[in-house]
Amino acid sequence: MPRIGLEVSFDVENIAKIEAAGTDFRYFVKICCGNCGEITDWVYLDQEDTIEVKGGRGLANMVLNCKLCGRESNISIEDGSRKAYDAEKGGFQQIVSFDCRGLEPVEWECRGGLVASTENGKSFEVELEDGEWYDFDDDANESVSVTNVQSQFKKLKGK
Ligand SMILES: [Zn+2]
Repeated sequence: MPRIGLEVSFDVENIAKIEAAGTDFRYFVKICCGNCGEITDWVYLDQEDTIEVKGGRGLANMVLNCKLCGRESNISIEDGSRKAYDAEKGGFQQIVSFDCRGLEPVEWECRGGLVASTENGKSFEVELEDGEWYDFDDDANESVSVTNVQSQFKKLKGK
């Protein structure tokens, strides 16, 4: 079954890493039906939501019933796949991967829940406004920011 990774890229100022906080972090995505190509509106999945897949095929984080063709498909966050973004390294980095059965995510949007931390371990909640976040680190006496949020999905091998 296809595995798909979410790669993101951020421009930062005085930030060492960025991560999706909590196991209930919501990944807002648009999903494309693998059968007919219909794309959903924004939906979200989080790791704490599980739904039984029909036919005793285990659990998934989201089951989609395509509005156009009626095909049922599902998607789950892969266990242990969540990683923090290393700002020093920069560029696109995979922060999570999904197990996709009969569908694929095509767009991601960040709607809060990201935590950015400085080299000294001070952390900030990133509240993006028009895709940008600015704050001030009183301890280090310097500004901090996260801007230019970009994302892409990448098909992964294996499983
Ligand atoms: Zn469909």
